[in-house]
Amino acid sequence: MPLLLGCIADDFTGATDLANTLVKGGMSAVQVIGVPDGPLPEADAVIIALKTRTAPVADAVAQSLAACDALTKAGAKQLFWKYCSTFDSTDQGNIGPVGDALLKRLGSGFAIACPAFPTNGRTIYLGHLFVGGALLNESGMENHPLTPMTDANLVRVLSRQAEGGVGLVPFNTVEQGAAAIRQAMTRLVEAGRRWAIVDAVTDEHLMAIGEAVAPHALVTGGSGVAMGLPENFRRAGLLPARPDADALPPMQGFAAVVAGSCSRATLGQIGLARDHVPVLELDALATPDAAAMAAQALAWVDGKLEASRPVVIAASATPEKVAALQAKLGRDAAGALVESAVATIAAGLVERGVGRLVVAGGETSGAVVQRLGVTSLRIGPEIDPGVPWTYANPTGLHLALKSGNFGARDFFLKAFSHG
Ligand code: ADP
Repeated sequence: MPLLLGCIADDFTGATDLANTLVKGGMSAVQVIGVPDGPLPEADAVIIALKTRTAPVADAVAQSLAACDALTKAGAKQLFWKYCSTFDSTDQGNIGPVGDALLKRLGSGFAIACPAFPTNGRTIYLGHLFVGGALLNESGMENHPLTPMTDANLVRVLSRQAEGGVGLVPFNTVEQGAAAIRQAMTRLVEAGRRWAIVDAVTDEHLMAIGEAVAPHALVTGGSGVAMGLPENFRRAGLLPARPDADALPPMQGFAAVVAGSCSRATLGQIGLARDHVPVLELDALATPDAAAMAAQALAWVDGKLEASRPVVIAASATPEKVAALQAKLGRDAAGALVESAVATIAAGLVERGVGRLVVAGGETSGAVVQRLGVTSLRIGPEIDPGVPWTYANPTGLHLALKSGNFGARDFFLKAFSHG
């Protein structure tokens, strides 16, 4: 199976989100964690997940170029640079500098930047990014601790961090479809622009933009704009119909959920699970010791594991309890303590025969994947928007990595009615 689309994502759950979009579009997809030493896995799309969103610019550029080289060496026909749908970046980067470096490495002079994701309320109108009904800089993102977004005008934002001029393909052009978008991009190139912010308010717009960028060496954006790309490969005769794009090996072993996310959605999911399955809630404040928390959890689980329904082990806590532990240990140490406990519990569960595991929490997922020694994830069927089942290599385990606020209230139960 020749590699068609090579993707580089600036964070872990963003990579999964993109992979999930491509699989829904009929491409097989594998997410690789970091730039691999050896050959890439076989799939229509390979997504290399980096952790470069807030890394120093030089690091982010170097890692992204290494990923680019691995993907082009494997024969990728087009590259996709995935960042957050809220364009998380600073005036220093990393969206602009990484994009410029990728363009140069690919010998190309122009790319779009389109973080729109209408399904999740991210729309772009006349270059301005909206989150739901609010401009980006009034959406709460202006207070982000690492990448405060204080300007909703993406043409201005990208101009401050990219080389070469930034233009706009406006709404009324996008409305007219792929040919009009392509003409507008040609005019921008002739006017010496290297980048185009492209307006998009609906999925139809994203499909038209996807069609228009078929000949581009590099496409950049959120996972939304990737929606239109699989069709290009089908149109070119490179991608056969794949009704089984999301097929994974059969699920085996016991079922479990571990949670380190304290997001509202996760707390609700734990609450609902309490009425249906065994739930252990760990108290990191009472036992601020990762090994002791893990030992307690693994003793509790004894005799409770089943294949037909999960056990749920949660270190999650209310904001007051989180604040109390942070006051005691410091923010980073508190987070690291809980992540380490949850990762040890996950490894213990796998040793005890768990074969299907849901992990709640973005950072928590990173810690678990690292502890389990997972190097890649084949993307399977979607459980809830943005959260697919995956099959982990080399552990042979089914994993669903849920970023905190994702998933319906019954997610922990629903996940195990799949497959
Ligand atoms: P989300 O996706 O909801 O943001 P993350 O896993 O990314 O979840 O982040 C949650 C962070 O909170 C992790 O670093 C986790 O270790 C930490 N955490 C979890 N439970 C507690 C707790 N009881 N006290 C302090 N920190 C906690």
